[in-house]
Amino acid sequence: MSKDKPTVHVNGTDYRWPLRPVVVVCIDGGDPAYLRQFLADGSIPNIAGFVRQGFATVADGSMPSFTCPNNMSIITGTPTSKHGISGNFYLDTATWEPVVMTGPELLRGDTIIARFAEAGAKVVTITAKDKLRKQLGKGLDVSQGHVSFSSEFAGQCTLAENGVENVLPWLGMEQPGMYSMELSLLVLEAGIRLLAERRPELLYLSLTDWVQHKWAPDEDGARRFYQRLDDCVGRLAALDATVALTADHGMNDKSNDAGEPKVLWLQDLLDAKLGPGTTTVVCPITDAFVAHHGALGGFVRVWLRGAVSAHQVIDAMAGVEGVELALDRDTACRMFEMPADREGDVAVIARQDWCIGSSAKNHDLSGLKGHRLRTHGGTSEAKVPMIINRPLNEAYRFKAASQTLKSYQIFDFAINGTL
Ligand SMILES: [Zn+2]
Repeated sequence: MSKDKPTVHVNGTDYRWPLRPVVVVCIDGGDPAYLRQFLADGSIPNIAGFVRQGFATVADGSMPSFTCPNNMSIITGTPTSKHGISGNFYLDTATWEPVVMTGPELLRGDTIIARFAEAGAKVVTITAKDKLRKQLGKGLDVSQGHVSFSSEFAGQCTLAENGVENVLPWLGMEQPGMYSMELSLLVLEAGIRLLAERRPELLYLSLTDWVQHKWAPDEDGARRFYQRLDDCVGRLAALDATVALTADHGMNDKSNDAGEPKVLWLQDLLDAKLGPGTTTVVCPITDAFVAHHGALGGFVRVWLRGAVSAHQVIDAMAGVEGVELALDRDTACRMFEMPADREGDVAVIARQDWCIGSSAKNHDLSGLKGHRLRTHGGTSEAKVPMIINRPLNEAYRFKAASQTLKSYQIFDFAINGTL
């Protein structure tokens, strides 16, 4: 059957017709440290089986190590410099207002999913938070039997908008809260049901990182989540699918011994050193649901307002505790494959155990009370797992052995690289 099916060309890569359904799961915030813990202690037997019988490595995610850029890298098969989604926010220097980057019109190039749908495949994209839904579903006509929805609005799905309706009774689940592991588990349960009932060729299931922001790998909450995740991916694999697991970014603890967050308030520091109003610091991790991390991440952008130069900002960073790198736009874009037209004048990256905010007065940390701050965004959180439940063919074994893999190659490996 697959002999008659076309090769699908997307953003410079050729994809063969899948031999069996391909499910890519993005474990949001799925730092390799969680797998290290749970593979070692036997909590995730299905994933352990994938590692034994299939393919597993640690790959490079896209920078900055945030949710939107990496989800778009995965579903387009391209780096941030190509697809253009470099964070949740960028600064519009015409208005000096931050612009949310979740609109499909900001995503450059096609998604692998939409191109397969055009070629006649049935496809599914499900995301936990609705902010990703429109970009994941870019170019997708759900009237043709495709499905695209979010757990956040699972209770409001319509056939016209999402290709599926009555999701909660169908799954026998309640509407999950925004700060719950069920928000991710609903994505997986719906993927399992759709795979069983409709047998689509491609599924992309994108979770949320509330669990990883909240719990370290050695905490019970994290284990409970990974056990349920493991059960779900085991059921996907049992439906004769190629199951590929990766993450958008990792996660690190950024608190001191007393449990308080180690924050560099960069806008406050630059105002003090260079003068108020000379720079604007934007935290591209910001979205509508930040109680679990206070909009604090490991990567921020500084835009200049005309009175100081990028080098003055970089010089002002010298010797400041918590800073790993401060780079001008060109250097940052060259090093990390980021789009220059959406980069700040200076990119500042935090050390593994620090995070960076703008002004102390603009971040609400009340949601963190009683919890250590765990967050992401820097190079320290840009290593992610890449696991496939089936062995690689010879060409892709050679490919894997001869280069550092990028997480945006996961669809390529899952579709083209498996036996
Ligand atoms: Zn994320």
